[in-house]
Amino acid sequence: MTDQDVSTSGAGDGRAFLEIEAELGAHNYKPIDVVLSRGEGVWVWDIDGNRYLDCLSAYSAVNQGHCHPKIREAMIEQASRLTLTSRAFRNDQLAPFYQEICALTNTSKVLPMNSGAEAVESAVKAVRKWGYEVKGVPADEAEVIVCRNNFHGRTLMIVGFSTDPTARGGFGPFAPGFKVIPFGDAEALEAAITANTVGFLVEPIQGEAGVIIPPEGYLRAIREICSRHNVMLILDEIQTGLGRTGRLLAEEHEGIEADLTLVGKALSGGYYPISAVLSNSEVLGVLRPGEHGSTFGGNPLACAVARAALKVLVEEGMIENAAEMGAYFLEGLRGIRSNHIKEVRGRGLMLAVEFEAEAGGARRYCETLKDLGLLCKETHVNTIRFAPPLVITRDQVDWALERIDSVLTG
Ligand SMILES: *Cc1c(COP(=O)(O)O)cnc(C)c1O
Repeated sequence: MTDQDVSTSGAGDGRAFLEIEAELGAHNYKPIDVVLSRGEGVWVWDIDGNRYLDCLSAYSAVNQGHCHPKIREAMIEQASRLTLTSRAFRNDQLAPFYQEICALTNTSKVLPMNSGAEAVESAVKAVRKWGYEVKGVPADEAEVIVCRNNFHGRTLMIVGFSTDPTARGGFGPFAPGFKVIPFGDAEALEAAITANTVGFLVEPIQGEAGVIIPPEGYLRAIREICSRHNVMLILDEIQTGLGRTGRLLAEEHEGIEADLTLVGKALSGGYYPISAVLSNSEVLGVLRPGEHGSTFGGNPLACAVARAALKVLVEEGMIENAAEMGAYFLEGLRGIRSNHIKEVRGRGLMLAVEFEAEAGGARRYCETLKDLGLLCKETHVNTIRFAPPLVITRDQVDWALERIDSVLTG
């Protein structure tokens, strides 16, 4: 396999793969046409050996970089010892996983699940039950408040409170009990709370909406409002968490602590689906045997992988690097002179360029960047998100900026 420059070689798009996918797969994605077969750190290679800098990181699931050797070692070691017991029995990886993630995130109780959507579903189940048993909400009256333009996953409960017509259209009827308010507006939260409100579910920075950063003070304000009304603050940190924004959790930027924090994606460094609900003991304490579960949740392979993924994130200084390289990348993006750019924004290595509507959409820039060896993806029509693995170096940021500048100004 060679590391030849993609711009001087063939298309690298593997027509046969595309045709088979189109024929046999559900068409629920519209990928950039590159067929990847190998990854290492910030780099991935396609089936023709062309190399690309990954500026998506599987939607922030590979914060630790592709195929991190220490996570791989933990996975292989555990895979050859014990992979799945179900929670009918105990395994020797779950307790140390609990201890390590609790110590790292200052949490007192953990519920391990698999996908991010499952963590969201589990948190809503738990706060509803807490509402009935602890807060005293009348049966089946619990309300959860969510934000406009939210993204919390793809299950039926979740798309039911999405405001994106593509995500929810044609999938009803939906579960009741959700109220939608504008994002970044603390007064709207206060006004929406009733005696039956049990939780406020929100992303600290809206990722899929296009890296929308709320006004300074928003997290502190919603923390105060939730506390005053005895409403559980549920922060969905599935994308913002685990170093992405330059802090372990994005809530740290305003010095607050959520009642429930949802993590997933980078919890395994891209090796394996694992998610978790992190909470104080009062909320998760309402779940008793038989009331919730998952065959694979908390399995020893997932726990061993997550332990290694958390360890390298901290030990190898990835969180500090995200803060430093993120600021440098942001400054570089802000220096690009183009009439098509409406706004550049970001925190840590969660960055976005939004284009003017007249620019003709962000997709064409992603396609051209792919041809130059940089992979990124549009979110909605007019925004590109740049979110490379947190191990990116200054030279690699420069390499990316050179290409982004040439495409956006070309
Ligand atoms: C990706 C994501 C989810 C859903 O995670 P899945 O593992 O795809 O189910 C939920 N919330 C946020 C903020 C996300 O970015």
